[in-house]
Amino acid sequence: HGYPAYSKLLVLCTLSSGGLVAYSESQSDVGTPSIDSSDPKKKKVVVLGTGWAATSFVKDLDASLYDVQVVSPRNYFAFTPLLPSVTCGTVEARSIVEPIRNIIKKRRGEIQYWEAECVKLDAVNKTVFCQSNIDNNLAGSSDFSLEYDYLVIAIGAQVNTFNTPGVKENCHFLKEVEDALKIRRTVIDCFEKAVLPSLSEEERRTNLHFVIVGGGPTGVEFAAELHDFVEEDLIKIYPTVKDLLKITIIQSGDHVLNMFDERISAFAEAKFSRDGIEVQTGCRVVSVSEKEITMKVKSKGEVYSIPHGLVVWSTGVGTRPVVRDFMEQIGQGKRRILATDEWLRVKGSESVYAIGDCATIDQRKIMEDISSIFEVADRNNSGTLTVEEFQEVIDDILIRYPQVEHYLRSKHLQDVTDLLRGPLGNDRQEIDIEGFKLALSHVDSQTKSLPATAQVASQQGAYLARCFNRMENCQDNPEGPRRFRGSGRHRFLPFRYKHFGQFAPLGGEQAAAELPGDWVSMGHSTQWLWYSVYASKQVSWRTRMLVISDWTRRFIFGRDSSRI
Ligand code: FAD
Repeated sequence: HGYPAYSKLLVLCTLSSGGLVAYSESQSDVGTPSIDSSDPKKKKVVVLGTGWAATSFVKDLDASLYDVQVVSPRNYFAFTPLLPSVTCGTVEARSIVEPIRNIIKKRRGEIQYWEAECVKLDAVNKTVFCQSNIDNNLAGSSDFSLEYDYLVIAIGAQVNTFNTPGVKENCHFLKEVEDALKIRRTVIDCFEKAVLPSLSEEERRTNLHFVIVGGGPTGVEFAAELHDFVEEDLIKIYPTVKDLLKITIIQSGDHVLNMFDERISAFAEAKFSRDGIEVQTGCRVVSVSEKEITMKVKSKGEVYSIPHGLVVWSTGVGTRPVVRDFMEQIGQGKRRILATDEWLRVKGSESVYAIGDCATIDQRKIMEDISSIFEVADRNNSGTLTVEEFQEVIDDILIRYPQVEHYLRSKHLQDVTDLLRGPLGNDRQEIDIEGFKLALSHVDSQTKSLPATAQVASQQGAYLARCFNRMENCQDNPEGPRRFRGSGRHRFLPFRYKHFGQFAPLGGEQAAAELPGDWVSMGHSTQWLWYSVYASKQVSWRTRMLVISDWTRRFIFGRDSSRI
C-alpha cells in the first residue's frame, strides 16, 4: 500500500471495436518514441480507456496531484445503456456520446489525452506501448510508449464468440456506437431488399428474419426496440411485407433475463409471446453462415438450421488480448479474467490497478480469509463460538470486507445460523464453526464476482479516484481495517459496491426493474422511471438535452428510416 506522494497515474483505455492492431516485438523494444512531458515532482499516472470506469476515475481525480495521461482509441465516452435505442434510431448516436476532451478540460490540473490503443504492457519496466489507429496516411509515426508510476487499466472487455464458427464473419455485435449504427443500416437494408420485385416470398421471409443470440439484458432490449420500430414505423412504410417479419431470441438457458428475479423473466417471456417474438430456450448455436444459423437443442441433442436476414450476437464478454498477455507476464495466465484485490490492485503487480469489465475482485481469496478469521477467533480450538464471539467475528469481517455484507446478512445465512445453534441447545448459545464455513462456501459459489456492468465500473472508478486523492493523508492516517496478515492498518477502506437496481426495457412503453431491497416493478410506470433515471445519469447537460429531445421527437414524428 505504500504509495509515494504524487504518484504517476497511468490510465490505459481500450479499443472496444474488437481487433487490436498487431504489434511487432521490434516496435515494443526499440525505436518507439517515449513521451515524457511530466513534471518531475509528480508521479505519473497512465489511464487506459475512456469508458465507464476510466471516465469516472478521471472525473473524480484531483489531477493537480499527478501527471495524468489518458490513452484510448475512442476519443469519447459512450453511454452504453442507450446503445440498443441507437440501433433503431430512437436516439441518435451523437446524443449518447461526450468527447473525452470536453470531460478532461473541466478537471482541476492538466490531463493529457492520446488517441491510441495500448498494444503491450510491460509490467517490469512500468511502460505501456501504444499505437495510434488514426489514418496511417497522415504524416508521422503512430507508435509511442509511456512510462508510469501508477497504471489504471480500464480497457473493458471484448465480445465473446466462444470460438463458434462463422460468428465473427456473419454476426453483428452490439458493443460500440459503430456496431449500433451498422445494425440500424442493416435493418433498413433487410426491408428494402425484401420489397424488391424480384424476390420470392420465401426469400422475403428470410431477409426479414431477425435473430438475436443471447437472452440477457442487451439481447432482450434490442429485440424489444426492434419490435417497436417495426410495429410503430416500418410496417406503415413497408405494408406489403408486414406479415413476413419474424424476431427470434435464442437463449442457451431455460429463461431469458435469468440474472433477474424470476417474476421479471416470466413477465418478459409473456410479453414477448403476446408480441409474436419467438423465444427459443435451451438451444446452443453451433455455427453461423451467411444465410443460416445452426443450433443444437441441449436436451435432445437435435441439430437444426434456420435461415436469417440479420443475426445479433450478444452472449457475454471475454478478456482482450493485451490484458491476456499482461496476465501471462504477472503469473495470472491460468485465470479467465484479471484478478484484483479488494483495493482494486492487480494481484502480482504492485502499482497497477484494474477497474471495470476488464477485471474482477478475487472473491475466492476473500472467502479463504473469512474462514481463517473464524479459526483465529476460536482460541480454545473448541470448534464453536458463543453467540457474542460469533457476532464480533461477523462485525470484524464486515469492516474488513464490506462487499460481502449482503452475503453475511442474507436470509439464507441467518437461517443457517439459527439451525447451527439448534443442535447445541439454545441455552449454550454456541455456533458450530465448520457448519457455518460450509454454509459460507455455498453462498460463495452462488455469488462469485460482481456483474460486468456500468454501475460497477463507474463506482470502481470513483472509489479509486478517492484513494488517489487521499494517498498522502492516508499514508499517515490509514483509514482501512486492521491487516489480517501483518501489522497495522490498511491505507484505505476496501471497495464496496452499492447496487442501485437494474432495468430491462421490454418495448411498448413497458419496462421491468429490480430495485434494492428485492423490490420488483414492471409495466408502464416502470418505463417512466427508466426515462427519468437514464436522463439523470447522462454525463453532461448537453447529452441530457439531446437524449430527451430525441425521445420527444420519436413520440411526435416516429423514428427515421433513412439508410445513411
Ligand atoms: P468500456 O465502457 O467498454 O470502456 C472501455 C474503454 O477502453 C473504451 O474507451 C475503449 O475504447 C478503450 N480501449 C479498448 N481497448 C483499448 C486498448 N487496447 N488501449 C486503450 N484503450 C482501450 N451496464 C449497466 O450497468 N446498465 C445497463 O443498462 C447496461 N446496458 C448495456 C447495453 C449494451 C448494449 C452494452 C454493450 C453494455 C451495457 N452495460 C450496461 C454494460 C456496460 O456498458 C459495461 O459494463 C461498461 O461499459 C464497462 O465499463 P468499462 O469502463 O470497464 O469498459
